[in-house]
Amino acid sequence: QWQSVPLAPPDSIFQLTAAYKEDTFDKKINLGVGAYRDDDNKPWILPVVKEATRILLSDETLDHEYLPITGLPEFTSAAAKLILGPESPALAESRVATVQTISGTGANHLGALFLSKFYQWGTAEKRVWLSNPTWANHHAIFKNVGIEPVEYPYYDPKTIGLDFTGFINTLKSAPERSVFLLHACAHNPTGVDPTPEQWKAIAEMLVAKKHYAFLDCAYQGFASGDLDKDAWAVRFFVEQGVSLLICQSFAKNAGLYGERVGALHVVSPTKETSVKVKSQLSVLQRSEISNPPTHGARIVSMILNNPSMFEAWKRDIQTMAGRIIDMRKELFRLLTEELHTPGSWEHIVNQIGMFSFTGIQPAQSKALISEAHVYLTGNGRISMAGLNTKNIRYFAESLDRVVRN
Ligand code: PMP
Repeated sequence: QWQSVPLAPPDSIFQLTAAYKEDTFDKKINLGVGAYRDDDNKPWILPVVKEATRILLSDETLDHEYLPITGLPEFTSAAAKLILGPESPALAESRVATVQTISGTGANHLGALFLSKFYQWGTAEKRVWLSNPTWANHHAIFKNVGIEPVEYPYYDPKTIGLDFTGFINTLKSAPERSVFLLHACAHNPTGVDPTPEQWKAIAEMLVAKKHYAFLDCAYQGFASGDLDKDAWAVRFFVEQGVSLLICQSFAKNAGLYGERVGALHVVSPTKETSVKVKSQLSVLQRSEISNPPTHGARIVSMILNNPSMFEAWKRDIQTMAGRIIDMRKELFRLLTEELHTPGSWEHIVNQIGMFSFTGIQPAQSKALISEAHVYLTGNGRISMAGLNTKNIRYFAESLDRVVRN
């Protein structure tokens, strides 16, 4: 049995971390993994999460019973408000079906599975349009449910920015009712987001062609430090009547990576439709995970539903986003003012969120690993969270060296 199973390659990000761990060089840097680190390069437990955990642990009324299939109700309703806004017309009209999921990955999976069963593709084939490039897991998640991933132009290596024309032209030429996956903010891996004007044009085209927007929101708060600002595109799309669903993750903005807290929100045109949608999501969820985990959802629910904890969370998010923005500015300053590194580096400060596409070539990425012990993916993406006041100069000098070679 199983002799014919082909050996799969290891996951490239996890492989990078393993290589970093084995490296004994004292100045080594890991810029591969997309997890926040503080200025001492340590994982950061948000103070508000510590406080919520302390309260939960001392609460003797809590038990380990199963949650409802669609999750902790206080969590799902607050999570929907967080992304859609407390004034959302869709929420006021009860047109949002929310299900608690296994973080953002689970939300993507459940959303994809729901589309694969129920989406009416019209003249469009059973395909999903993904940005080129995107989070690699998007490809695998859709293939797993029988939806073929195809790519729309997104990143332009010439400008190290958005290929807006290519993107809009694909929206225009794709058959009506095509499904487009869009990163709600802080695009992974490029850090390149559309401007509000560009988002408006995208929304207009989505509506005109009756396309479906599959919005992946894994970094709310991480782009600008402001939860509402980072939700702007999502809320604007809802206002404009774009057909959509949202995948929401609390891994990054609450630092709850391993707790797997997330939600899927499907917005429908009417309340009646939404009730049917939720019933089917519930059936799918039952067969996949029966019911979602309790601990992380209780933590997030407490933070979202308690006004003073919510304010504390916003401050914690600003601490993380602010540190990342500081690292962008310092890297830009080192490269341009001190080292006079050849090339243009504005994109480092223009890009948004945890990641930055440096624009360096694969051979230069390789050289950074082998010569400087700086670990990053072959496409030149760096996690800004891996930089801190102690290692940024070494990184800038190493980058300068490979760029000059
Ligand atoms: N979508 C995108 C674009 C991501 O970058 C990530 C995290 N790397 C996720 C979804 C899901 O992450 P998680 O399952 O940890 O919430």
